[in-house]
Amino acid sequence: MSDKLNDERKLAHKNAFEQFMKEQYDKEESTSLIIDRKKYDMIVSYLTETVEKPDPCKKFHLKKQKFNIQIIDDQTKIYREFKKRNNTMNLPVAVKEDYFEILYDIHSVQRGHIGINKMEHQLSIRYYGIPRFVLAQFIKFCPIYNLKHVQTSQPRLNPIRSDDFLSRFQIDLVGGWIKRVEYTSG
Ligand SMILES: [Zn+2]
Repeated sequence: MSDKLNDERKLAHKNAFEQFMKEQYDKEESTSLIIDRKKYDMIVSYLTETVEKPDPCKKFHLKKQKFNIQIIDDQTKIYREFKKRNNTMNLPVAVKEDYFEILYDIHSVQRGHIGINKMEHQLSIRYYGIPRFVLAQFIKFCPIYNLKHVQTSQPRLNPIRSDDFLSRFQIDLVGGWIKRVEYTSG
């Protein structure tokens, strides 16, 4: 695939994803799982004790959740410590505004356009804070993944031995076939 086509597809993917995120989350309160830039900066100011008129409850809450500050290349980053099985992880917190680039890097490794389970694993060792349902949406908007998925799912369909027109028709839809195909076994 040419780089230009690749860039165009990435842009289409990004636009669809960002549109979804905007519709879904811009209206949400700060109680959301998702940490946007504004909330991120607020957490930084609490943890570095630079906030004016701090709310003691909030500070306590953030520390209890084990958010912590790391200085990486002179930049102040929020990490979150948590237990995973028997391990203690401390991972950088992903900011909503960076979701697409983070996910795209993982998803498009060696142009593989990997699916949700592989992505979730890769993400789980790199970042904290991107929920699985966001991942699911991200993949849904990838034109390349969808193309691959349709192509590879077709040969797996077995011929259906049924005289029921509707059930055959549904199988056709699931497989993404445009027209009915031959079921000549019966
Ligand atoms: Zn993709």
